Amino acid sequence: MVSSDGYEMTDRQRAFLDTIENGRHEREIINGLRPFFDNSVPDDMKGFYSSQELDILKSLRGTDRDVEARMPVKVTRHYYELARQSKSLQRLVKASPDETLNLVGSEDPGHQMDFSPVEGLLHKYEMGLLYTISTCSSHCRFCYREELIARKDIVRQDGTVAKKGLAKIKDVVGYIRSHNKQVQDNGGLHPTTGRRKLREILLSGGDAMMLSNQKIGEWLSALAEADVEAIRMGTKEMAFYPKRFDASFLAMLDSFHLTYPDVNLRLMVHFNHPDEFLQKSPDGEYLTNPNGSLKWHEDTQRAMDGVVQRGWMHVENQAPIIKGINDDADALRILQQSLYHRGINNHYYFCGRDIVAYQAFNVPIETAWSLLNESQKGLSGVEAHARLSITHYKGKTEVVAVTNKPIPGVKHAENGVLIFKNLRNALDAPDRGKTCIVGRNPEATWFNDYEDRIICDEVGLFDYKRVDNKIISGDGHSLNVVQPSDCR
Ligand code: SF4
Repeated sequence: MVSSDGYEMTDRQRAFLDTIENGRHEREIINGLRPFFDNSVPDDMKGFYSSQELDILKSLRGTDRDVEARMPVKVTRHYYELARQSKSLQRLVKASPDETLNLVGSEDPGHQMDFSPVEGLLHKYEMGLLYTISTCSSHCRFCYREELIARKDIVRQDGTVAKKGLAKIKDVVGYIRSHNKQVQDNGGLHPTTGRRKLREILLSGGDAMMLSNQKIGEWLSALAEADVEAIRMGTKEMAFYPKRFDASFLAMLDSFHLTYPDVNLRLMVHFNHPDEFLQKSPDGEYLTNPNGSLKWHEDTQRAMDGVVQRGWMHVENQAPIIKGINDDADALRILQQSLYHRGINNHYYFCGRDIVAYQAFNVPIETAWSLLNESQKGLSGVEAHARLSITHYKGKTEVVAVTNKPIPGVKHAENGVLIFKNLRNALDAPDRGKTCIVGRNPEATWFNDYEDRIICDEVGLFDYKRVDNKIISGDGHSLNVVQPSDCR
């Protein structure tokens, strides 16, 4: 049997796919601002935008400040119901004129396309990320995939201009097999790129949970047949439409685990705020269980329990800290505590990326660090595992510490310092653990705001040059990675 894109399946895969049933999902999505403009939304949704907000948004249509040209509006009935009682959730899904006041930012944050050897696949670290679909069931205004979701043209490193394409099973599996064979034949490192086995793949998008069970099953089994060791699914569907994690989806996971028991599945959920899953009283207080723990929304609890109870599946939360949504230490504390309570690990909190219009969303880096640390006061050690990360072009970078006192005799340290630590490099991990120390700038929302106060940059965050895309594609002959500078 051959899949729709020409990929030939094995007998084992076919047998697994034959077990899958697709569920029926009534997300009741409101797509775009038009239904709000022309008043065709259901009656109970009519006040979601005030008439003043609608007038302003309407006046921006077709101009260079058009909010929907930047990022399409979309919301499910479930999320709308939650947002009715939460200003933070409203800010997450409601378009606002502020978003297009300052359109500075990158259409390809992190030069991600430099790491794309075949369309729809980003090969970074020992991991591959797949664009499996270009939408989610609701859209976060701060999304750093807005260029994919809004189908924008991106300038590639070779000067060609094209929209980001979606991954195709045949191409992706072909690349993984070829890369991994060369790695194996060369004793563990790729002969030209020096990278290791591609052993973990992330199904991303958009949100892969928008695909049918059958399509998800096709991806999972094709990756398993290519000897991928771990598969992640990145999803915010647990917040937008938890009923998607229904019996048919869980049965598909069970069948997959039975067929491919050595492949580890990891669900990376995305909750920004506890209002996305906790029940509230009419006056806005969280409801409690008899033992004092906070009461989950019953649909979300059922969905999450279904996943967590499958002990062979890891569940982790990661989320950015965004202005007006979750830049609140109390909310972050409740979020981490309540997630861990139901078996979800707290992985990363992110500083916002340099997406187009990032000034509307990004919390200053030093503020995000303070908020996360403040939020972890009162949490137990296991609840407070999350770290603050900011994704540099060079790779994942932790914001390790911000000091308050001057360091006598050290230029730029008059108000204290901030320490970054490299966690991963996009190519490999030679710089893991290396640091960069800069003088403080409480207003800084991106690395360039520290350019004039570098104290010691052993990792080379401020000397970065783009990686030659030909290297990633395997056409080049040597790694073109810039050497870090000495400490100043
Ligand atoms: S769920 Fe993720 S990909 Fe989808 S809109 Fe939100 S941030 Fe973007």
